[in-house]
Amino acid sequence: MSELVEPAGTAPAEPAPAAPKKPAHRGWPGVGPQLAERLAKIDVFSPADLILHLPLRYEDETRLTMLADVRPGVPAQCEVEVLSCEVTPPPRRQLVARARDASGEVMLRFVHFYPQQQKQLAAGSRLRIFGELRDGFFGAEMIHPRLKPVAAGEPLPESLTPVYPTTAGLAQSALRKLIAGAMRHNGVRDELPEALRRNLNLPALPEALHLLHAPPPSVALIDIEDRGHPAWQRIKLDELLAQQISLRRAYAARRAKNAPGLPLRDTLTRDLLGQLPFALTGAQARAFAEIARDLASDHPMQRLLQGDVGSGKTCVAALAMLQAAENGRQAVLMAPTEILAEQHFRKLTDWLTPLGLEVAWLSGSRKKKEREATLARLAAGEILLAVGTHALIEDPVTLPGLALAVVDEQHRFGVRQRLALREKGQAGESPHMLMMSATPIPRTLAMSYYADLDVSVLDELPPGRTPIVTKLVAEARREEVIRRVHDACIEGRQAYWVCPLIEESEALQLKTAEETYEMLSAALPDLPVGLVHGRLKNDVKSAMMDAFVSGQLKVLVATTVIEVGVDVPNASLMVIEHAERFGLAQLHQLRGRVGRGAHQSACILIFAQPLSQAGRERLKAIYEHTDGFVIAREDLRIRGPGEFIGARQSGVPLLRYADLEEDAALVDIARGLAEEILRDAPRVADAITARWFGGRANLLKA
Ligand code: ADP
Ligand code: MG
Repeated sequence: MSELVEPAGTAPAEPAPAAPKKPAHRGWPGVGPQLAERLAKIDVFSPADLILHLPLRYEDETRLTMLADVRPGVPAQCEVEVLSCEVTPPPRRQLVARARDASGEVMLRFVHFYPQQQKQLAAGSRLRIFGELRDGFFGAEMIHPRLKPVAAGEPLPESLTPVYPTTAGLAQSALRKLIAGAMRHNGVRDELPEALRRNLNLPALPEALHLLHAPPPSVALIDIEDRGHPAWQRIKLDELLAQQISLRRAYAARRAKNAPGLPLRDTLTRDLLGQLPFALTGAQARAFAEIARDLASDHPMQRLLQGDVGSGKTCVAALAMLQAAENGRQAVLMAPTEILAEQHFRKLTDWLTPLGLEVAWLSGSRKKKEREATLARLAAGEILLAVGTHALIEDPVTLPGLALAVVDEQHRFGVRQRLALREKGQAGESPHMLMMSATPIPRTLAMSYYADLDVSVLDELPPGRTPIVTKLVAEARREEVIRRVHDACIEGRQAYWVCPLIEESEALQLKTAEETYEMLSAALPDLPVGLVHGRLKNDVKSAMMDAFVSGQLKVLVATTVIEVGVDVPNASLMVIEHAERFGLAQLHQLRGRVGRGAHQSACILIFAQPLSQAGRERLKAIYEHTDGFVIAREDLRIRGPGEFIGARQSGVPLLRYADLEEDAALVDIARGLAEEILRDAPRVADAITARWFGGRANLLKA
């Protein structure tokens, strides 16, 4: 591929693992710190980023329509002269102006307005207005039209007006000016050979960008709003190339690293298998075999263990940790919440104490003295296994023998935290990483979030589970639900009662939890009721969980602190209040807290009317489906990939324009092309990834 255009300059063939792009909002010429701060919110950190900030849609301001010709419901631009303007008296304070052109009159109405608009609407002003006409009480009117004061005879714009994604405090007009400026001063070049582009029937990158930012009126709106247009295809191909190149580089970088080879010795691992009260499911055995093979290699494993709630991931993790231990090396398990970490600690202690192994416990709640003693023994390599919260990645923790790090509910952790864990190993060595998640990530998405990840799937639940019955119940029937809780507990079962999610206010959430607790304690005088929420001190929280695990407490009122991982097989009833407020993944996780024993379990979703469209769809999905993978797909459909599992926070660059499913044909092209580019023109590879990911590319490796 000798025709590839190598960019000028002396970029190194392999980019140094650049420091993550700091959100230092210092700006650049013409962009001060305050503006830079706002631009950072839309992921724009440089003029080059501005160029890739593409319109969501367009408005056609290249034409004027006479008022008499405007069709209702179709946005149009008219040029009018203001006849009069007034602010109506309270309580319905509105800015109302009358204006006309040669064909008729129109009322312009503003429910919210700024002094600036009042000034623009002074009688006698000439304005271009853009909006939709509708029939109002006083004849034709436009609500909140866009206004642009003009001089008589001012020429019309020659291209469609782009509408960009933006953020509070950053006006469309300002953003347009910035982007137009960046387009003028910071050229982009197309590194792909012309012949190749012609073969694919794609325009050059600069042309594609120009067309999308400033489409000439000859281009039909529907053509460029449909992202199948060749200009969009060219952009998407570039983005996919950047992704494929990063994935390949991440893979190569990992293969170049050393990890401790941990052959399966069938000593401790076999002891555990012999001692577990159950046999592994086929899926567990398969997943462990895949992991065991990776661990034996002297390149670091990077594997995601996906399995629906209750599929038995913990025990697979325990086996992997023992494979490290039977080689005399250390392994840790990190969990996102105190409750979950403690539960893992107990389970591992139960399983491993009989094998003569000690498990260390690290969390923020340990007393300083105990903690220091534990740290010293870990540092000396006297203890091989540790379980903890993010306390594990704090500074004083040293794990000289670290060979395997397991991260449970890994999506709850940021990329940086996973990186920090990896850094705990010996210099010159990378530990094997096993990530676990019950929030199934469709494979295509996994590929774009976590580059270069192998995936094992637990697609089978342990036997003897009875399916959970899901019920949707309107708020008015709360009494019935309380009776049901009572009956279940009298029969010896236990129940969770999850309080409504109140995202805006933690204080309010706490109050609701306390009130629910009071209400249930009063309604169920013969049953011991407990309460857990995030504000409780850790020892109180764990005492409360203990009491529930041991069956002393029959009903546990909880906020979402119990969302992940908690395992109390005797609990057979899960009640979720204001279920319509919860995300699908959350509902699925919560429901997964029951149905863990042999008893018939139920999940009762209490909802309040009116339901939003998305709320209704979520309840329908959770009611109809029990398979976590199907639910994840529904979740993705309802929410769109951008918000899926908070991936934005992970720092990993998402695909902004291309869609791995919809643009599958382009993905294939990009895959082949990426290989050629890396082989023949590494600097081109640098240029493409820098364009799309800037300094963030290295986060792909976490
Ligand atoms: P998750 O995948 O949600 O983390 P857990 O590891 O908490 O699931 O396992 C759920 C429950 O199933 C636990 O009580 C665990 O001991 C039990 N379990 C795990 N594997 C098996 C198995 N093969 N047969 C029976 N029970 C199992
Ligand atoms: Mg779990």
